[in-house]
Amino acid sequence: MASDTSYYAGLDIGGTTVKAVLVNHLAEQGGPLTEVRSLVKDGYEATFAQLDKALDQLASGAEIEKSAIAGIGLDVPAPSSDGVIWGRANLGEDWVGTDIRGKLSARTGVPVHMTNDGNAAALGEYALRRKHVGSLLLVAPGTGLGGGFVLPGGRGYEGANGMALEVGHISVPFREDDEKLPKCSCGLTGCLEAWVSLVALRRRLGLELSKMEWTEHPLNSDEIPVEEKAFKLREFAEKGDPLAVQIFKQQGFILGYSIADMVRSFDPGLVVIGGGLAETTFREKYMEWIQEGFADRAWPVYRRSPIDPEKITTQFEWAIGGDAAAAIGMAYTARELFQ
Ligand SMILES: [Zn+2]
Repeated sequence: MASDTSYYAGLDIGGTTVKAVLVNHLAEQGGPLTEVRSLVKDGYEATFAQLDKALDQLASGAEIEKSAIAGIGLDVPAPSSDGVIWGRANLGEDWVGTDIRGKLSARTGVPVHMTNDGNAAALGEYALRRKHVGSLLLVAPGTGLGGGFVLPGGRGYEGANGMALEVGHISVPFREDDEKLPKCSCGLTGCLEAWVSLVALRRRLGLELSKMEWTEHPLNSDEIPVEEKAFKLREFAEKGDPLAVQIFKQQGFILGYSIADMVRSFDPGLVVIGGGLAETTFREKYMEWIQEGFADRAWPVYRRSPIDPEKITTQFEWAIGGDAAAAIGMAYTARELFQ
């Protein structure tokens, strides 16, 4: 039973680690952020054992009994509905189709809310902006492209079946040099994620490096696989390398262009850009490219108020929660739902 001495745990299952955090009934963080290996490739049972370990560490870090944890918010790096992962999960085989939420709730004896990592990060960004009372749209380019939307007051909007905000897979009107639509990892073609993600970066880089123009580029003489070259691209962009800048500029523009349609649907007032780019030294440039794409597609009213031109109607900000955002978001959500 929840009470004033209850705590709520946020558990963020990533590909390599589980991040975990506690909040109390007043939404104050209890104890430090905890991190354990996720073992997701070994299946959900192995991961559950890691979650137990994380909960033990949270309880001892906050100097409370584990039984004081009255609810859990859990996020997974895969699309899910009703506590069940249904999409091509980047996890071990037994995850898909299993009632993860139900099994974890039975194991821990407390209610569990489960969602995907994009929704969780959006909730975390909202929770960390305590003065923000409007809504918030998060778009986070990473290996794929995640998104999340939080309603005024802090409740996440996940749709009727938990399947909303799959923003990485909306279609965009951009074509490759050969006029074809790029294939997406989801099986469709022309998805936004096929342009704005680490996977997209690898494809673009491979295509560009095969062009005459870049024969002399240092990445062309490097003997490493294109996956590793794509990781290096960020360093090149930080130094102003023309190829890297061109690729990120295109990516930022397409992202902003697509955000204009998301804003047209949700009018969030605040758009937060998450993912690893928030930590790069060229992020101000990247934000300009996003703004250029946004301006190309958004009506003026989505940028400035028609009554007061000083008033910006859609603010853009970088994420502030870093790696901890999703765990924080889930702890706040567990408190909101189970208090
Ligand atoms: Zn797709």
